Amino acid sequence: MSLANTSEITEAMKAEGQRAYELDRKHVFHSWSAQDALDPLTVVKTEGSFVWDADGKRYIDFSSQMVNTNIGHQHPKVVAAIQEQAATIATIAPAHVSAPRSEAARLIAERAPEGMNHVFFTNGGADANEHAIRMARLHTGKSKVLSAYRSYHGGTDLAVNVTGDPRRFASDTATHGTVHFMPCYPYRSYFHAETEEEEVQRALEHLEQTIVLEGPETIAALILESVPGTAGIYVPPEGYMAGVRELTKKYGIIFIADEVMSGFGRTGTWFAIDLWNVTPDLITFAKGVNSGYVPLGGVVINEAIYNTFRERVYPGGLTYSGHPLATAAAVAAIEAMEEEQMLENATRLASEVIGPELERLKNEHPSVGDVRGVGCFWAVELVTNRDTKEPLAAYGGSSPAMGEVIGKCKELGLLVFANFNRIHVVPPLNTSDDIMREGLALLDQALALADRHYQ
Ligand code: PLP
Repeated sequence: MSLANTSEITEAMKAEGQRAYELDRKHVFHSWSAQDALDPLTVVKTEGSFVWDADGKRYIDFSSQMVNTNIGHQHPKVVAAIQEQAATIATIAPAHVSAPRSEAARLIAERAPEGMNHVFFTNGGADANEHAIRMARLHTGKSKVLSAYRSYHGGTDLAVNVTGDPRRFASDTATHGTVHFMPCYPYRSYFHAETEEEEVQRALEHLEQTIVLEGPETIAALILESVPGTAGIYVPPEGYMAGVRELTKKYGIIFIADEVMSGFGRTGTWFAIDLWNVTPDLITFAKGVNSGYVPLGGVVINEAIYNTFRERVYPGGLTYSGHPLATAAAVAAIEAMEEEQMLENATRLASEVIGPELERLKNEHPSVGDVRGVGCFWAVELVTNRDTKEPLAAYGGSSPAMGEVIGKCKELGLLVFANFNRIHVVPPLNTSDDIMREGLALLDQALALADRHYQ
């Protein structure tokens, strides 16, 4: 892929970018933000692992935007598939058969764990979770939903309520029957565990106690990110997911694996849960399924839940379920990932470049308390003291110190996904070694600012 330089950003593109910025500030209402605090980046061009702003400045995209552009920007095969589909059938009701939807469902089901053969399509991740919970409730006849603190499941009402990230602002209404438990998080163990084995054992004991105290006969589903993303990319140690599977089976609870961020190659496997060979009852997905070129999400369904709705109506649907442009993009994106061995590249990048380089940064910067991850899914957790693990920004908040680090990354030409006291290194899976190293060298420079706050 060519590495366009700044000279390709024309004066017309710059002028259009300037106008877009002015209109944005006048008319656009942005998510998760106080509108006055914003100075958003105006992007006028994207390609591969890069984006360019309206001044012609190039940035390495270590964020994959919202951790969704798994195949990078403007992949020619996917762009062509969308264009071809638009020229034939641009939209069609979900009740009709459409070739890209059928093909996308086949490709997704074939990559899901055995026995998960049907796909319900949604517009994104939050509505996939809403539908998965609804299916679980209808299938079991029960209503409570268990989910982890330090999790993110989406921005619609029920998805916000099962989310255990402190985004549940006081003004949000509380949905009846959502219960949170403490997840496995070795770096800041809630269970005072000193080893990973201890952490897994105590986290599972705590989960079982929660289930028993809530009453298994009242719990429809447990929803859990296979690798929690937004809340910190803390990869569960060996044994945890298998233990969750066992407990959910023991107590007749539907296990929903939220793979919206971790699915479709992000961890070097089609689904993160494949890392532990665990089969949930439902898998929710979005983002990486077509790299977000057209909005798409969905639920992969096992046979037992499918059978519930063979004769009984599933009372739910969406106007755009399996939209032809979105599913054509999914077919092309999945094929491109396979043809270009992007999953293999993510695993190789982790062991040869990202892992060793982040370990080096941890050795060189006292403010780096922890680095962890898998595939192209890594977090750098910043602290002001390694012994106390005092975070550089409080969980659920921001700090001027974190702002400085993020600002420095931007100034140096590096786009990162940052949350509270963490910088996430989540590049496209097909990022080259050279670009990866270039971006990590920029991160190295920015981390010097975090070190200034170390005590
Ligand atoms: N679930 C997880 C794990 C996510 O990371 C996200 C988004 O970041 C969602 C659900 C919500 O997806 P969407 O924003 O497409 O509704």
